[in-house]
Amino acid sequence: MQKQTLSTMKKILFLFLFSSILGVIISAEDNSPVELTQLAKPIVRYEVNVPNVEEYITLKCDFHMHTVFSDGYVWPDLRVIEAWVTGLDVIAITDHIEGPVSRPFLSGDDNSSYELARGIAEQYGLILIKGGEITRKQPYGHYNALFLKDVNLVDHEDPFTAIENAVKQGAFIQWNHPERNSEMGNQFEFQKKLLEKGYLHGVEISNGSVWYPHMIDWGLENNLTLMGNSDLHGLILGEFQLDKFQRPMTLVFAKEKSEQGIREALDNKRTVVWVADLINGREEWVSKLFYACVRFGKVQITNDERKEGKLVIENISDIPWSIKFSGPVMAGSYRLEPRSSQVVRTKGQGNVKIAVTNAWIKTGANLQTEMNLE
Ligand SMILES: [Zn+2]
Ligand SMILES: [Zn+2]
Repeated sequence: MQKQTLSTMKKILFLFLFSSILGVIISAEDNSPVELTQLAKPIVRYEVNVPNVEEYITLKCDFHMHTVFSDGYVWPDLRVIEAWVTGLDVIAITDHIEGPVSRPFLSGDDNSSYELARGIAEQYGLILIKGGEITRKQPYGHYNALFLKDVNLVDHEDPFTAIENAVKQGAFIQWNHPERNSEMGNQFEFQKKLLEKGYLHGVEISNGSVWYPHMIDWGLENNLTLMGNSDLHGLILGEFQLDKFQRPMTLVFAKEKSEQGIREALDNKRTVVWVADLINGREEWVSKLFYACVRFGKVQITNDERKEGKLVIENISDIPWSIKFSGPVMAGSYRLEPRSSQVVRTKGQGNVKIAVTNAWIKTGANLQTEMNLE
């Protein structure tokens, strides 16, 4: 029996080899090219699953990246394609503003990267926000001006005037990669001046693969919108472990999917920052996002006498959630991987305390929540 199978396999193999050789001969004879469909890959979007929260649309955004029009390595079109493929809905290309475009063989001005990317963004249905990065050495730092009308008008020698010129155009100002300011002894003097004038609206609590947990409290104390962006210069494939994590992004809870909708949400601080497997934001929005992603089933009693039961927990999102239950009903730590379910043992019914250990609502403080299990 086994011998027969082997000889059948040999026959199949022979036929396969013969027909493939024949295929090559045939195509070689008629001189036509052979399309290797097994190798070709169309441009496809890998959807990132993050549910809407209450009546708000969850938009996946990256408000910080560069192109050849400053110190980046790619043409503006590619930023749009990369963003669309990796599941984003919104990007801002924010090339450094200062001085003329100085790359060899390249002309244009501070609006060029936006102008070049606009057409393809429209084609892919990606929202492109006009912006630029105001760039100064410490103690000033770097600031993204978003929703600009004319980026060229922001180029000014004095950093305060540059930011003021952006604000006059209605820009949203985000403090980028806020490294601790050694020269000023962490006093943030320049930032305080901006805050007094109402010229600072957001702060990056993550930039690329760098996380600034100490800035969560600073951002909250100063009533700023919390942001997290890629600050891409090269190819996205070369800068992040995309096989393990989604690219860094700011989740924006908008009333509508439009530029105005995004601006309204940023002004009202409805954001959550997702970087690596960490979630950061205001307690209200982290909590709402958690309950939109994670669904708790009803307790099913398995042993009436001993009050033992089980319960299914489902994570419908692509965000991994690390949770720790405590209390008499449920205890223990669980990692809810993207789009997965787990069965958890229960004892009785009632209140259970949940610590979400990868979700940060303050510097050094996780989201703590409670739910009643029936
Ligand atoms: Zn920068
Ligand atoms: Zn940058």
